Amino acid sequence: MNTVKSIDAIYDDIVARNPAQDEFHQAVREVLGSLEVCIDRHPEFLDQKLIERISEPERQIIFRVPWQDDNGEVHVNRGMRVEFNSALGPYKGGLRFHPSVGLGIIKFLGFEQIFKNALTGMPIGGGKGGADFDPKGRSDAEVMRFCQSFMTELYRHIGEYRDVPAGDIGVGSREIGYLFGQYKRITNSYESGVLTGKGIGWGGARVRTEATGYGCAIFADEMLKSTGGSLDGRTVVVSGSGNVAIYAIEKVHQLGGTVVACSDSSGYIVDESGIDVELVKDIKEVRRERISEYAGEKAAAHYVAGGSIWDVPCEVALPSATQNELAEADAVRLVKNGCLAVAEGANMPTTPEALHVLQEAKVAFGPGKAANAGGVATSALEMQQNASRDSWSFGYSEERLSEIMIDIHRRCAETAEEYASPGNLVVGANVSGFLQVADAMQAHGLI
Ligand code: GLU
Repeated sequence: MNTVKSIDAIYDDIVARNPAQDEFHQAVREVLGSLEVCIDRHPEFLDQKLIERISEPERQIIFRVPWQDDNGEVHVNRGMRVEFNSALGPYKGGLRFHPSVGLGIIKFLGFEQIFKNALTGMPIGGGKGGADFDPKGRSDAEVMRFCQSFMTELYRHIGEYRDVPAGDIGVGSREIGYLFGQYKRITNSYESGVLTGKGIGWGGARVRTEATGYGCAIFADEMLKSTGGSLDGRTVVVSGSGNVAIYAIEKVHQLGGTVVACSDSSGYIVDESGIDVELVKDIKEVRRERISEYAGEKAAAHYVAGGSIWDVPCEVALPSATQNELAEADAVRLVKNGCLAVAEGANMPTTPEALHVLQEAKVAFGPGKAANAGGVATSALEMQQNASRDSWSFGYSEERLSEIMIDIHRRCAETAEEYASPGNLVVGANVSGFLQVADAMQAHGLI
C-alpha cells in the first residue's frame, strides 16, 4: 500500500533530502506550484510517486578535474554531470563553467531542462553539467588544457544515444571544439552526435549559435501578438551580453523593436539609438573585454557601473544573463515604467517574488523553460543532421526554429487555458512539460 503525500509534503521531503541546494529547491517549488490542477485530474501520479521520481536524478556524476596553468601551477576543479531524466530521449543539456557551479545550480538547471526539452517536442531527455572553473582571465591554452582534462573523465559517460552535452555560461564554440577534439582523440571515433554547438565546418548546425536568443525574441513577439501587438516599435531591454543576449538583441532589431540597454556582471550600457550588436559581438566574443568598452567607442551611449539594468524604462524585458538577476524591487520598477512583457532568455532569471509582482500587475510572462528553449531545440536539430550526415541551410534551420517557438507558445497557451489559468504561461509550460514526461515514465514502468 502506497503512502500518498500532498504536493507540499513532497516538496518538504525534497528539500530535506537535498540540503543546501537553494536553486534546486527554487526550481522544484516553481514547477510543483503549478501541478495542483494537474494532479486533480491525474490522481494516479501521486500513487505512482511520479513527482518524487521526476525530482530525483537518474544519475549524478562528480569528478576531479586537475589542470596546469601557464605558469606550471596545478589547479584542481570539480566537474559534474547530472543525468536527470531519460524518459523522452538521451540526456540533453549544456555544460556551465563558472565559479558558482555546484550541485544546487547544476540540479536546478538539469531539472528545468527536463521540462524545457519536453516542450520542444523533440526526443530529448534532460541533463546538465559543468565545473566550478572560472574561465575569466584564462589564456586560450589554459582553457584548452582544462577542457581536455574535463573530457578525460566525462567521455565515458556520454554518447549519441546516452547523454549529449552542449554549451551554457562559460562554454561556447571554442570550448565545445576542445571538448570534441579530446573526445575524438580518446575514443578514436568521429561521433558528431556526442556534443552539440559544434563549429559549422565540423558537424555543427546553422542557427545553433543564434538559436537561444533568436528563439527568445520570437517567443516574446508571439506573447505580444496574442494580445494584438508585436515587438515592432517596442523599446526593449536585454540583460547580459553573452551568447543569448547578443542574438536576442539581433532578432529584436530584425522584428522592428529597439534594444536600448544590455549589461555584463560589472554594469550596463544605455544606447537610446539602439544597441550596435556588431560592436557588442566584437567586444565580448572577439576581444573578450568588458561591456564598458562600448561607451568609450560610441558617443551616443553611456555606461553605468554596478546598478540595475532594470532601472532603464522599457516595454519589453528579456532577462538573458543568469539566475535570480531580476529581483522584486526590479519588477516593481519595470511595472512602474510601463513594462508589458517579460520573456526569460536565461534560466530562472526572475526570483519568485519578482514573478509575483509581474503577475499581479498583469505583465505577460514567458518562463525560461519555454522562452529560451530555442537553443536546445536547435541542438536536437543538430543531432538530427548528424545522424543523417546532413547539413541544412541557414534559411531552413531558422524556419524550423521559428516554427518550434511558435508551437511552444501555442502549446503553453492552450494548456494554460485547458487547466483554468488562461494567459498564465508558467502554468502552461509546467503542466504541458510535466504531462509529457509523466506519460512516458508511466509507459516505461517503475524504473
Ligand atoms: N544550455 C542551453 C540551455 O539551457 C542549451 C542546452 C543544449 O543545447 O543542450 O537550454
